[in-house]
Amino acid sequence: MKKIPQCDRCKFNAHSNYLVCAIHPSGVEGNRCPDFLLDPEVQELLSPIGFTFIDEQLYRMPIIYPVDFEPTLERSQQWEILNTHPFFTGVCPNCGGSYPQNVKIIHYDCQSCGWMDDSLG
Ligand SMILES: [Zn+2]
Repeated sequence: MKKIPQCDRCKFNAHSNYLVCAIHPSGVEGNRCPDFLLDPEVQELLSPIGFTFIDEQLYRMPIIYPVDFEPTLERSQQWEILNTHPFFTGVCPNCGGSYPQNVKIIHYDCQSCGWMDDSLG
């Protein structure tokens, strides 16, 4: 019985001490298996954030901005909004009241305390 490194990431891995996999119970010759299929669950675990596996190769995910994208906020301001804006937190930054769930909200002005969303200028 012979396992190859691919086996650990393969969908067909039997995870058994007595069986390599369902297709090749006693393993394969050489270092590559013709039936290797990357296990999607393993793939997710192995892919670092911002990367993805395509045909066993690790690729950096493209970060695509709209062509007219121009950042108008400093990094610290973006961070502030990420941490406080109800679009991201789901609660009013002033009174802590919750916004309705599963509703598409255009204006985040708070119904409870009257907090005004002026982050859109
Ligand atoms: Zn409020």
